[in-house]
Amino acid sequence: MALTGIEILKMLPKKNCGECGVPTCLAFAMKVAAGQVEIDACPYVSDEVKETVSEASAPPIRTITLGSGENKFVFGGETCLSRHEKRFEHPTGIAVLLTTDMDDGDIDGRMDRFLALRYDRVGVELKADLLAIKDSSGDAGAFTALVEKARSKCPDAALILMSEAADVLKAGAEACGEHVPLLYAATESNADAVAEVAKDTGCPLAVRGENIGGTAKLSEKLQADGFKDLVLDTGARTMKSLFEDQIVCRRAAIKHKYKPLGFPTITFPCEMTDDPFMETVVASILVAKYAGIMVLSDLQGDLLFPLLLERLNIFTDPQRPMVVQEDIYPINGPDENSPVLVTCNFSLTYFIVSGEIEGSKVPSWLLIKDTEGLSVLTAWAAGKFSADLIAQFVKKSGIEDKVKHRSIIIPGYLASIKGELEEELPDWKIQIGPREASHLPPFLKKWSPED
Ligand code: SF4
Repeated sequence: MALTGIEILKMLPKKNCGECGVPTCLAFAMKVAAGQVEIDACPYVSDEVKETVSEASAPPIRTITLGSGENKFVFGGETCLSRHEKRFEHPTGIAVLLTTDMDDGDIDGRMDRFLALRYDRVGVELKADLLAIKDSSGDAGAFTALVEKARSKCPDAALILMSEAADVLKAGAEACGEHVPLLYAATESNADAVAEVAKDTGCPLAVRGENIGGTAKLSEKLQADGFKDLVLDTGARTMKSLFEDQIVCRRAAIKHKYKPLGFPTITFPCEMTDDPFMETVVASILVAKYAGIMVLSDLQGDLLFPLLLERLNIFTDPQRPMVVQEDIYPINGPDENSPVLVTCNFSLTYFIVSGEIEGSKVPSWLLIKDTEGLSVLTAWAAGKFSADLIAQFVKKSGIEDKVKHRSIIIPGYLASIKGELEEELPDWKIQIGPREASHLPPFLKKWSPED
């Protein structure tokens, strides 16, 4: 149960010294309770208090970190059932399966696609995150060789090591060095041996039961043995049962604070169908319904990209509009005679407008003004895309050094500010663009700075 500000205040030294960056202990306690600062920011609290507060304020679904250095993959840490209540914290990890009985061509192809299928969207790199390396024969040498190959070829991939045999998992974990992998999996038959490997190597451990009840039982036992970093596989391999289990796990952890299920899940669309399209459909449901990680049989651009976009949309904060950076964006290789357009930084507007300009093949400069993610008319109505602010932005943007002419195209919906903008930018000719982005290509093809 989370602590209140007053409960936290009782544990603070009450020096009111401000060294934590907050003027008083009371204000600090309130911020800790609200999750805005860490208890560690006060240099005077004891380790015991730190532990008490950290435990009490930990999310109901534990946060698990894999990898190392800059190549960390974090999942779990969720605090709500529905995205609109707050936000979903850590995007579902997408893993691709490699097995020791695949031939080199298959393995290299999957690794090549893991590295190649990366997309830039709204300034975010969209990509798969993990390689799931499965031991098919109990051969520790072959398994370790594949782990080493994965580490050297795909250094930014987090790893899932999959074997029934504790000695194989141990050899694989040691081959990872500092790069922390997920060990998969402790089952009823091997739990003690695999738990020993997890204890020795300090790696998070996946738990797989026959069903959700068996998984909870095993998780409870491992927690009682001191394991904190667990990942759940309820064993479900049909869409109906997996869907139900995902919801039960999440509800039990968040609504009922049921500790044995208070961990992120790992799921296996790759084991649920042989049809790549159906596998993607299953995966798309799991992105929305709480999977911590999902393991796919392969990566194909046409199937992966929509999945990545879905994930991006679901795991963005619904209270913050998606934005692109305020800047000058060159499109189609513009020069000093190319048209200059200005619009807002709502990402959807940016992508639609830049897409139409790109499609027109007319070299252009696109000026993106920071409107805090509001669309053109909303930003104008909120006073964030007014003539004086646009003028200030145009002057400081540096566009005057990039073009010889002094003509700027504003969105058609802002035609009413033309006069004001002419007063603010007396050296510039203000041109009214089309209202709809889809009309930009013919507009740009006929454009002249003298229009
Ligand atoms: S640093 Fe600690 S003692 Fe000082 S004001 Fe902050 S919470 Fe209080």
